[in-house]
Amino acid sequence: MTEAVTAPRSVLITGGNRGIGLAIAKAFLANGDKVAVTYRSESELPEGILGVKADVTDEASVDAAFKEVEAAHGPVEVLVANAGITKDTLLLRMSETDFTSVIDTNLTGAFRVIKRASKGMIRLRKGRVVLISSVSGLYGAPGQINYSASKAGLVGIARSLTRELGSRGITANVVAPGFINTDMTAELPEATQKDYLASIPAGRFADADEVANVVRWISSDEASYISGAVIPVDGGLGMGH
Ligand code: NDP
Repeated sequence: MTEAVTAPRSVLITGGNRGIGLAIAKAFLANGDKVAVTYRSESELPEGILGVKADVTDEASVDAAFKEVEAAHGPVEVLVANAGITKDTLLLRMSETDFTSVIDTNLTGAFRVIKRASKGMIRLRKGRVVLISSVSGLYGAPGQINYSASKAGLVGIARSLTRELGSRGITANVVAPGFINTDMTAELPEATQKDYLASIPAGRFADADEVANVVRWISSDEASYISGAVIPVDGGLGMGH
């Protein structure tokens, strides 16, 4: 039997100053880990969480943030690529910039942080990478061609990473939330929220904690033989995808 909890590890969550990222940071903190989050806008963080400024669209900024985390907590052993944006609009109205900017943050941004983290993980011969995707990635959603493409791409990253680095004690998994109560979903029109609610078997939206607990578990020793998986946290919305 392995221990259920291996703390304290150096954990980094991108976009961890609010929403799902902050809930994930709090879950790791409660686990006894050394937790750092990236932020862009100044924000109050709970005591015990290290905030480092970073924009995931900028490689130099990512590198500087990792250096700060490594100096304070040691090499990153658990990386949660959570930072993400939406720029929803229907295909015919979607500009190329609407498309590429979402890809640059959600997909290339994940690539930048994973590449930077992998160096330390390879040296440690262990690591956990968790990519926060979305039900939209595999199920699709009108008005989200850019977002869905970026979130589906994360599955390709996790699976190729698993094949490249799986023998080094590193796992890479995707967590795909459905409709979670955060700033991102608060922006959706009320009618869209009602439509979603009608199609969710659980009959409700979720709290960010319900995603955070799954991320913490998939990063634990209990999940040591799971890699390349897509774990839905969507109340059944995307079943079968
Ligand atoms: P929020 O909009 O509440 O938070 C997004 C976070 O990402 C913020 O911390 C934001 O930083 C950060 N971020 C955005 N762009 C960048 C960037 N270029 N560089 C660094 N950080 C950046 O979103 P949620 O908490 O709702 O979502 C978190 C993740 O979960 C996202 O990847 C999202 O796609 C995914 N998700 C969310 C769902 C939901 O229902 N809420 C459903 C499915 C997936 P800042 O505060 O500086 O803007």
